[in-house]
Amino acid sequence: MKVNVAQVRRNENGIAHFDLEEDFSAYESELNGLSFAAPVRVQLQVTNLGKSLLVLGKVQTKFKTQCGCCLDDIIYPLELSYEDEWVYGGMAMAEEEQSESAFIFEKDEIEINERIFEQIVLALPMRFICSPECQGLCPVCGVNRNHTSCECVLEQTDPRLAALAQWSKRD
Ligand SMILES: [Zn+2]
Ligand SMILES: [Zn+2]
Repeated sequence: MKVNVAQVRRNENGIAHFDLEEDFSAYESELNGLSFAAPVRVQLQVTNLGKSLLVLGKVQTKFKTQCGCCLDDIIYPLELSYEDEWVYGGMAMAEEEQSESAFIFEKDEIEINERIFEQIVLALPMRFICSPECQGLCPVCGVNRNHTSCECVLEQTDPRLAALAQWSKRD
């Protein structure tokens, strides 16, 4: 997706808004088994601060994945906000003034897909869970305990409780 900053860049204190949408499935190979269930929507507010452009962005999309606990298929909606600093390569800027994370652009039309994908990766959780109440799989028989109940008795695995069990058997 491309953002054209021609106008806002030449207009001191100018503000521009963009509402963009694009299919990001080309990035799925970098996502460890996650796939997009919706296009990526990006809303941006770009403000000309003189030496740089301040970008406030909102990113929305949905992923198709599995619950890490019960393995059910789930749709995971992702929504994130971010702030970015875009600096035109031609703006004469002292090294020390330039923040390390600044995004340097050379042309008025800026391709932002890579920049947006970075934000998405940062915002993804380590593990997806279908709900905070997910009961997971029974470690004995493997049924999904959200859908089925089973009669399995779990072995005590906590060594302190195992010692207690040994001790109470002595009577
Ligand atoms: Zn689950
Ligand atoms: Zn079971």
